Amino acid sequence: MTESIHQLVPEFIREISPYVPGRPIEEVERELKLRAVKLASNENPLGPSPLGVEAARKALADAHRYPDGGGYYLRERLAARLGVEMDNILIGCGSTELIDIAARTLLNHGDEGVTAEGSFPMYYISIRAAGARLVEVPLRNYAFDLEALARAVTPCTKLIYMANPNNPTGTMFTADALDDFLVRLPEGVVVVLDEAYYEYVERADYSRSVERVRQGRKLVVLRTFSKVYGLAGLRIGYAVGPAALLAEMNKVRSPFNTSGVAQAAALAALDDTEHVRRSMESNRAGLRQLGLGLAALGVSYVPSAGNFLLVTLASDARPMTDALLQRGVIVRPMGWMGFPNAIRVTVGTREENEKFLSALAEVRSLAPQDLAGTRPGAPGGPAR
Ligand SMILES: *Cc1c(COP(=O)(O)O)cnc(C)c1O
Repeated sequence: MTESIHQLVPEFIREISPYVPGRPIEEVERELKLRAVKLASNENPLGPSPLGVEAARKALADAHRYPDGGGYYLRERLAARLGVEMDNILIGCGSTELIDIAARTLLNHGDEGVTAEGSFPMYYISIRAAGARLVEVPLRNYAFDLEALARAVTPCTKLIYMANPNNPTGTMFTADALDDFLVRLPEGVVVVLDEAYYEYVERADYSRSVERVRQGRKLVVLRTFSKVYGLAGLRIGYAVGPAALLAEMNKVRSPFNTSGVAQAAALAALDDTEHVRRSMESNRAGLRQLGLGLAALGVSYVPSAGNFLLVTLASDARPMTDALLQRGVIVRPMGWMGFPNAIRVTVGTREENEKFLSALAEVRSLAPQDLAGTRPGAPGGPAR
């Protein structure tokens, strides 16, 4: 049976290594019979926007109706806020859906999709699933190497995925660097720029991407309600891009890809400036706390512009991750994203960060053989 199914599935699909999500907190607590903290999926530790939750609750009363799949009011609101037209906005079931829709809209067999090796796995999954050729450029100092990325472009290149800040490394490139990169690209290339952590970045030289969309560049900017707005569970994000391209992408999305509840929550969360302010403040303090704590332990990490840190160890991070899990701290080993010696930890609340740091201090003092014996049967990430 498995054999004959395999024959039905094209090789370029079978070759895809699957996305490995963070372990659900309930699953870990059930298994280990202890309370856990989850610092594994870059979620907002302060929870969802309260205004968003209130709006979602109200919207539930219309749950018997199909939603407005086009998300009229949310697009109207985003367009006004960003200074673009409504047809420059497309709503998706999380920005990850929009990553995939971009590939399915643009890539044909024989085309090339380019991204960085050591970035968000959805880029390579989407390029592969579209049947196109995947071109991966190594990072440089944990950051997107725009120079090398530009050199990797060939006449077959149609699509480039970039993350700014990058997940899982947290590094960013400047608005000037993006401008220099964009002018070097040939006409036929679309850049999908994933700014999932946009709201967290506080550097003045960070991003003018929407301005470039306004000026007619072949650029699609992706943002999400999953991170600073705390609505990851409701699945809603958006693209800002050229109207003609978004119109084609709009044909490919499933008609009711975002729920009315998610749209209502997103609309309200956009105006929840208090929640955004508190979230940014908490993240700023948490980054500082983790940075100081790691430095005190003599553990290296990559300085981050986002709400997470890539912690780099001297050897395979899996035993360490498993030992942390045993102590109720869920973080992600990054081997499957190309960093076998690294752990990605999401910035939590003060107490959660403290729990991570003290668990890390404890497991660092364990002998290697004690670490090796602690595997609780965590799902194995495929080597990549
Ligand atoms: C978290 C994240 C997203 C957000 O995905 P959603 O589907 O909007 O929840 C997108 N891109 C990157 C790089 C991320 O880290």
